[in-house]
Amino acid sequence: MGTNNSTGWEWNLTWRRDLFESELLLADTFIGDLAQQQVQPHREDKWIWKHDHSGHYSSKSGYDLIWRELRGSIQNSDFVDLWKLKIPAKSAIFAWRLIKDRLPTKMNLISRQVVVNDRLCPFCGLKDEEVEHLFFNCTCTLPLWWDSISWANLTTALPINPRDHFLQHTLGAVGVRNHTRWKCWWVALT
Ligand SMILES: [Zn+2]
Repeated sequence: MGTNNSTGWEWNLTWRRDLFESELLLADTFIGDLAQQQVQPHREDKWIWKHDHSGHYSSKSGYDLIWRELRGSIQNSDFVDLWKLKIPAKSAIFAWRLIKDRLPTKMNLISRQVVVNDRLCPFCGLKDEEVEHLFFNCTCTLPLWWDSISWANLTTALPINPRDHFLQHTLGAVGVRNHTRWKCWWVALT
């Protein structure tokens, strides 16, 4: 990937395929990062975990890093409630990814240049598979929401946007206990 010549280390990067447009900026940033590093040809390569003073990885420091990043990316304080629910962490993380549209739906995969043969919803086959449709607007999933509203004896709108859908249960329409119950159901249903 590079050679050491009389002027110092020189990178010689080649790519296995042409880069997609969305990857050009990443590659440029990567090359910029490399340029800031000084290669020392006479020292042996070694791995260093930057998130611990010792330089060694531990599952605790990995766990702390993931949670710090997850929490840091929640700009809207309303979503802090999501982490307070007494539900399995994997369910909260799934709901958070749904709200932030980070699930690997077919449309999200396509936007990342993944080749997908069929972009349609697997339930109805009529609309593109994206979170708004799949979880909140498909003719196959909508009845679940109607039933859940009926069980909770509530009258409410069903926003298609996941964020609005979740946040409506934090508004003051029902009691605090009901809020928590609602949000648990919301996560369970999704
Ligand atoms: Zn559908």
